Amino acid sequence: MSQLYRKLPKTDHVLAMPELDALRENTPYPVFLAAVRNAIDALRELIREHNDEKLLDAALQELPALVEKHKELLIAPRLKKVINATGVVLHTNLGRAVLDEGALAALSAVSSGYSNLEYDLKKGERGSRYDHLIERVRMITGAEDAMVVNNNAAAVMLVLSTAAKGKEVITSRGELIEIGGSFRIPSVMEESGAILREVGTTNKTHGQDYRNALNEETAALLRVHTSNYKVVGFTSGVEREELVRIRDDWEKETGVRLPLIEDLGSGVLVDLSKYGLPKEPTVQEALAQGMDIVTFSGDKLLGGPQAGIIAGRADWIARMRKNQLTRALRVDKFTISVLEYTLSLYLDPATAIQRIPTLRMLTEAKDSIDKRAEELCALLNAIDGLQADVVDIDSKVGGGSLPEADLPSRAVRLHGVAAQKLERALREQPVPVVVRQQDECVHMDVRTIAPGELTVLCDMVRSAWEAIR
Ligand SMILES: *Cc1c(COP(=O)(O)O)cnc(C)c1O
Repeated sequence: MSQLYRKLPKTDHVLAMPELDALRENTPYPVFLAAVRNAIDALRELIREHNDEKLLDAALQELPALVEKHKELLIAPRLKKVINATGVVLHTNLGRAVLDEGALAALSAVSSGYSNLEYDLKKGERGSRYDHLIERVRMITGAEDAMVVNNNAAAVMLVLSTAAKGKEVITSRGELIEIGGSFRIPSVMEESGAILREVGTTNKTHGQDYRNALNEETAALLRVHTSNYKVVGFTSGVEREELVRIRDDWEKETGVRLPLIEDLGSGVLVDLSKYGLPKEPTVQEALAQGMDIVTFSGDKLLGGPQAGIIAGRADWIARMRKNQLTRALRVDKFTISVLEYTLSLYLDPATAIQRIPTLRMLTEAKDSIDKRAEELCALLNAIDGLQADVVDIDSKVGGGSLPEADLPSRAVRLHGVAAQKLERALREQPVPVVVRQQDECVHMDVRTIAPGELTVLCDMVRSAWEAIR
């Protein structure tokens, strides 16, 4: 271990430094203490990284300023705006769907004062928070009824808990997927109390597999849209129409009518293939083809707030509303106001494509992207010593959606700079910029950079470049 660690000051010594008198007086004690500890940790990190006595001595000279800097860091917001220059439209780590000003206006109007969240203005009595959304979901999807919870994982859990607690749910092995983080369909099913009855194999499941698995313990058939990967080649699954036949035959035989459930993942409400994207099943299609209950996310392709939407048969939805889990999974007024606004844009699909940022980014024309890339490139080339050009790149949909989608885009490439160093410096700016590194160069895909962000982005690149040159 380095001898230099002996030079690190003790916490008590720093806390009592006369140079810090003013700071100590003006800072709440817990913050001051944390700032001192973090400053000493930073010195420790400096030794670990460089093991350089001169560097350490210089830093020790500046210790009061270092404590001050750490105090500022402690009180500054941690959750903040970043610029997404990765070209991944639904970037799960960067907050997934982006909202437009209309959504924020709705949020502010409802949340900066009181609202009729659970108050029926017509009757002057208690109402339901879900009523604000149901009519819209019905008009858009054709569902009889709807329900909204915290996210789609919660939606799947509530549906299974309501329809199949302690009973069996038949699912194809080809659909037992994991979706980012550690969300696994089989685990969520288990948590809901439903018993998973797997049928078929990874690449092939036949109608007969479902038929053979049916028994008195069966409570539902579940289909999961494997939106984040594709098994190609020697594969077959069971279409919705066939599931309906299987269910109807079982009803004829036993008198028991089982619900058909589908977890669609991405909530696609307009046929994206009309706009040059791969065909994804829409919520409308799944319901029209006989699914009784469909669940989907609010902040994937739907482009709204984080939420899980359940649409389908009124009798099942009514039972879900009464499930005690609903209380634990319920959405707040922020979600409801933003979702109501987003859904209202879908009443006219052309408006949805134009106004919902996710859909707008996914369908933006190449020449429009190119124009923005050229504009950014010119701004960056004006920075002393920096060289930029515009190159082709492929954007990604992200969020576990449309893995095969090909989204030809344009990126600004920076060269003559150590890519790794610049990438890091960009992340450390007041408005952090997250970029793509490709062929040892920093690339900024402009598909996910809003026109209004170009100037700030340029300032951040300038300051990052000055910090490392
Ligand atoms: C993304 C996804 C989920 C989880 O949705 P969240 O809204 O992130 O909870 C569940 N099922 C499928 C098929 C998904 O694609």
